[in-house]
Amino acid sequence: MHDDIPLTLGRVKRVLEERIRPAIHPVSLPMSVTWNELPGEPIAPAEAMGLEYTDYSVGTIWGAAWGTTWFRLRGTIPADWAGKRVEVLVDLGFDKNMPGFQCEGLVYGADGITVKSINPRNQWIPAADTAEGGEAIDYFIEAAANPVLLDYHPFLPTTEGDIQTSSSRKLYTTRRMDLAVFEPEVHELSLDLEVLLELQAELPEGPRRMRILQAMDNALDVLDLQRITETAPAARAELVEVLSKRADESAHRISAVGHAHIDSAWLWPVRETIRKVSRTSSSMVELLGVDEDFLYGMSSAQQYAWMKENRPEVYARVKEAVASGRFLPLGGMWVESDTVMPSGESLVRQFYYGQKFFREEFGVTCAGVWLPDSFGYSPALPQLMRRAGFEWFFTQKISWNQQNKFPHHTFNWEGIDGSRVFSHFPSMDTYNSQLSGEEVARASRQFRESRHATGSIAPVGWGDGGGGTTREMTGKARRLADLEGSAKVKWEHPDEFFKRAKTELENPPVWVGELYLELHRATLTSQHQTKQGNRRTEHLLVEAELWAATAAVYTGFEYPHEEIDELWQQVLLHQFHDILPGTSIAWVHREVVVQYARVTAAAEAIIAAAQALLVGEGTTPITLNAAPFTRSGLRTGSAAAVAELAPATDKVTATESPDGIVLSNALVTITISAEGLVTSALDHATGREAIADGAEANLLQLHQDFPNMWDAWDVDKYYRNQVTDLRELDSLTLSTDEDGTARVLIERSFSASAVRQELTLAPGSKVLHIEQTTDWHETEKFLKVAFPLDIRAEHAIAETQFGYHKRVTHVNTSWEAAKFETSMHRFVLAEEPGFGAALINDSIYGFDVTRDSTEAGVMTNMRLSLLRAPRFPDPETDQGIQTHRYGLVIGADIAAATEAGALLNSDARTITGANGFDPLVTVEGEGIVLSNVKLAGDKSGDLVVRVYESLGRRAKGTVNVHRPVEGAAAISLLEDPLEGEGGIAELTDGAVALALTAFEVRTLRFKFKA
Ligand SMILES: [Zn+2]
Repeated sequence: MHDDIPLTLGRVKRVLEERIRPAIHPVSLPMSVTWNELPGEPIAPAEAMGLEYTDYSVGTIWGAAWGTTWFRLRGTIPADWAGKRVEVLVDLGFDKNMPGFQCEGLVYGADGITVKSINPRNQWIPAADTAEGGEAIDYFIEAAANPVLLDYHPFLPTTEGDIQTSSSRKLYTTRRMDLAVFEPEVHELSLDLEVLLELQAELPEGPRRMRILQAMDNALDVLDLQRITETAPAARAELVEVLSKRADESAHRISAVGHAHIDSAWLWPVRETIRKVSRTSSSMVELLGVDEDFLYGMSSAQQYAWMKENRPEVYARVKEAVASGRFLPLGGMWVESDTVMPSGESLVRQFYYGQKFFREEFGVTCAGVWLPDSFGYSPALPQLMRRAGFEWFFTQKISWNQQNKFPHHTFNWEGIDGSRVFSHFPSMDTYNSQLSGEEVARASRQFRESRHATGSIAPVGWGDGGGGTTREMTGKARRLADLEGSAKVKWEHPDEFFKRAKTELENPPVWVGELYLELHRATLTSQHQTKQGNRRTEHLLVEAELWAATAAVYTGFEYPHEEIDELWQQVLLHQFHDILPGTSIAWVHREVVVQYARVTAAAEAIIAAAQALLVGEGTTPITLNAAPFTRSGLRTGSAAAVAELAPATDKVTATESPDGIVLSNALVTITISAEGLVTSALDHATGREAIADGAEANLLQLHQDFPNMWDAWDVDKYYRNQVTDLRELDSLTLSTDEDGTARVLIERSFSASAVRQELTLAPGSKVLHIEQTTDWHETEKFLKVAFPLDIRAEHAIAETQFGYHKRVTHVNTSWEAAKFETSMHRFVLAEEPGFGAALINDSIYGFDVTRDSTEAGVMTNMRLSLLRAPRFPDPETDQGIQTHRYGLVIGADIAAATEAGALLNSDARTITGANGFDPLVTVEGEGIVLSNVKLAGDKSGDLVVRVYESLGRRAKGTVNVHRPVEGAAAISLLEDPLEGEGGIAELTDGAVALALTAFEVRTLRFKFKA
């Protein structure tokens, strides 16, 4: 026969777009609208609804960036609409090509109760299910004029990203605010055709596809384009047969879950996220009410907590939906945090506070970690997830890799300690699915475990202000439940998916080590003050807990539970995956700096109050040590009069000549050239030179840094091709302190910037400390500091949470070549048998390592990443004064690097008082590090102590509590009792004996004698 497939397709597309979809709302009439524009910060809805409103005509431009405009829409349902479903249609000036990232609205009844949100692809508000005619409709819309910052002009610098610099130009023009009849059969017909149109596009030219094409032609043959409402049922009848053909028995199964990935701050400030979450949630509870199969999942306890505080009536409906098992709290974390940079204690608290909230509010403990979008995943995570009680892990982001395709979708992920967690990446490669035929087919086609497993997960819905799942998506899911030629789609709790996948995959493939994202590598460096604030506050809070717990036990100090909880939650919020990575707008990072200052002041006040009680009143200078290593003979958690501390036995000798400066103590000799560069660092114990022959360390290097896209996120590897070594010197000055510490002050100017470095060597120290202040005024530059080491290291050993990971230094494969910028915490070590050197830092997370060939052989060049200057999304990123502390540990192994890194991040404090004191808790055992001492979160007064094995080998030791205790138990990271043997901690004279495996994290709970 003659066949013309394109003719059918063209016909269906045109009729669907131009006739059927518009006929879903065939009649409408304009409402009477009044408005009140409120530039600046939003006000409470009740207050806004009580203001004066003036007449507004649709088509009038509204909304300067970040302002809120309140519209009041009134109308009466005409008598001749009786029996019809009636809706209000509002188009605020939406761009449908870009759901989210623009204006949005939350709709309130005249009684102040929220109804649902309106979004680019969700523009309707219910008015009457079955109209009687004559009903008065009265709605308020709180419309937010969030500016489009990314989509129209990707990555162009803009000042619109902060209310302090944004323009007063109005941004949006409304298109309609109408009462309209909704025709359900036409709506269903449009979905029938859309699903079939998308399905046939994925099918081979065989009978199934041809019958679908014919059915669509038949449907349009009976559809009268002038009487669509009346003839839609007949058209649908022509489609019943092709829509009722059942899926193959072995068809891929898609476990769909309604979702909206709402970034807790990004191209909008935190205050707007609070509203975005409320808007989307209000629409989602509405959709749950009309589609009984639908399930909606939302992560981040913080986002629920915001609703509870700011939109209690939305929260009440969410709470009801959670209780009925339809609104699913996911992930068990405080926010969807970055997992590469936060400390071990921080990740523990992400889980602790997240699960605590879900338990207390909903009686729900999440079984899995839900992190679709953060930028790579730490190899410490599997252990932490398991020890917090999680059974599964979900992400999607690794599909964004630039170079290498990840080989699995469902697999076991093994961390540094050998813990494994059952993990899944959706084979659809998206966390914003709209259940299109193309996505559904892709999920099936790409799924890597099809030999053994049957399904994948699909998070369905628009995020970031797009409004979540739509009724079109639930309509598609209904049709795709069991349809020939398609994967089968079913709304399902991810827990159910993971249970089934686990039984299907008896021997899942295993991925060992970090899940490195081959993209967004510069997120380890952008927005330095955010990184510094994170590092400092997470250490300060651990210190505050140590002194507060010690003072509570020793002196009866009232442990400030609520305050510490609130401070941790602030720090945890900032670990969100667009804040700590430095990829948010200027507004966000400006507020973050203020909040870190607040947390710092509050933590310092707790520390000062607890310490004052511990040392008593007096005038003796007393030093306290909170670092997890003994310092000047002072153990962790103890204090002593300065006069009693072991004095330094040697002095640093410093000699100056025209060639430069030589510093020497009992352990090391360091040569600094006349240019202020370190040309030699000799370790006396081994006689080894740390600096490569003829090379110069402490060399600042400035690179051009203009990535192809994602400015704050990305550094592209060609950045290395353009480099300027900063050798020009303004001054070089040597001085010596009373205690024998030598200081070399180096000042340089370059382009528009200046840098001041103070290099210090203290008596008895193997560390060359560098304190750097940079007055940074560069554009699209990357500042690194290089340490070419005379070490042939096979691995760069970088600290991560509760341990370290090793990355090879060569680039034999594309996987290794892709890791040209990688992460660390407080140290990175280069080591060959017999000798090593480490770089330590107090606020740096990025570094790179290369193997450079010299005449003497291959050496290791390690470079710390100090500052960048991207111009999107914050055009002024990192401009101004920036500080860093780092250092070179000469003759270091893992133990020395761990200790030096920890000491740099936790300074000793000297205050005046009457007496020193002994530690409340001591830990014995090589390699066992005390991570945290706090009072239990249940306010029982019990002591919680966390330790970990730091050297990557088995260790034996003890944890001693120096106050009478009557019981001890091993507990989870959530401070839950552990079942069976895992929970046993035998107590002998206040001490618990430990046998730890490599990198094992152990949490103990001690009950004091009454
Ligand atoms: Zn995100």
